Amino acid sequence: MQNKPRRDFLKKGLLGISGAALIPGMLKASDYSNPLVPFSPGLPNRMLGRTGIKSPLISMGSGGSTSPNFVRAAYDAGIKLFFSATYYGEGKNEQIVGEGLTGLPRDSFILSTAAPMDGFDGRTGVFTKEFNPEEYLKKVDGSLQRFKLDYVDIFMVPYICKPEHVVYEPLVNALLKLKEQGKTRFLGVATHDMCQDALIAAADAKIFDVFMIAYNYKLQEKEGLDKAIKYATDAGMGIIAMKTTAGAFRDKNRTSPLNTDAALKWVLQNENISTIVSGMSTIEEMQKNLSMIQNLKMSEQELKDLNLAGLNPEPGLYCHQCKKCIPQCRQNLDIPTLMRSYMYAYGYRDLEHAQHTLFESGLEGRPCDACDVCKVKCTAGFDIKDRVQDIARLREVPGDFLRV
Ligand code: SF4
Ligand code: SF4
Repeated sequence: MQNKPRRDFLKKGLLGISGAALIPGMLKASDYSNPLVPFSPGLPNRMLGRTGIKSPLISMGSGGSTSPNFVRAAYDAGIKLFFSATYYGEGKNEQIVGEGLTGLPRDSFILSTAAPMDGFDGRTGVFTKEFNPEEYLKKVDGSLQRFKLDYVDIFMVPYICKPEHVVYEPLVNALLKLKEQGKTRFLGVATHDMCQDALIAAADAKIFDVFMIAYNYKLQEKEGLDKAIKYATDAGMGIIAMKTTAGAFRDKNRTSPLNTDAALKWVLQNENISTIVSGMSTIEEMQKNLSMIQNLKMSEQELKDLNLAGLNPEPGLYCHQCKKCIPQCRQNLDIPTLMRSYMYAYGYRDLEHAQHTLFESGLEGRPCDACDVCKVKCTAGFDIKDRVQDIARLREVPGDFLRV
């Protein structure tokens, strides 16, 4: 599976963190002695790797939850894994989730959060000298305060996507300290990017316990990713799927909705994927998802719907995050992040998250106005200039309009 340079790199990377097996706080078999009891026996569930967590096939991506009551309703309906992030509503979402789970036995749910790193350039994939591990750990303290809890179950590092990231010593040492302090039980990575190599490196390094990846019927490199997933799960890692509906709609005007049951079932045909993070925001969506997991067999019609969606000549809303556009852009724009923002706005109608992602891209001014013709060729067929100019307008909208 791995080519030689990659294997050599990984060996070097592991040596680089001073002999990974000796690091205090690194996983040991005794870390995973939870009783293997499903959280919701009435719902189909799978094991989340070596964590010992048996999770329903649907988990909650809480970014779209605007009320603690909705979070509680999800818990009551059997959903037991909740994924929040510091950047959902600038911390507000963590408060909502914490409130929704208040008063419940702490071992009856699994809570995860993620915090982006200052000093990590997502476009180039480089840690800069601004990365300060101590400051990064303080972000977790902020999350715990907002949740009103002593620990989270899974702390996720978002956006890292290269083998060297998952063994980057200053980051790894900080994360292991977090575990030693008891502020998280497990460590994870969440990435939108093509991540096969990072997944393999993480499986070998045995520092991260779970990996959250983009996985959907539009995957361009399914075979390679499936092999990496298998390698990682064989090594005990738990795999969580996100972006499973690839934007949910195939066009900006939402005239062409996707058969989402078919899209989610398609993901769960891969038995190495433990659970899907669904960004549901209504009770109806939640019930639909929970009903879908009761029967994963895909009907002829569902297969047809997905095939048609796959064959549809429209480029759709889903960006593969392949990054092949960046070097083609005269202004070196972070086009993949801008295209994610576009998908959040037009596909998921999550304008707040779309704006946050837009800011994250670092877009300033109107750089596309300077180009008569855009020469960027997108592998998904997007008209890049049109989309960048379109989504850039969201920067001017005051944030409080988006939160009402
Ligand atoms: S080339 Fe297209 S699909 Fe690939 S990252 Fe750029 S915008 Fe996304
Ligand atoms: S039009 Fe925009 S996306 Fe295209 S090359 Fe110019 S700056 Fe880059």
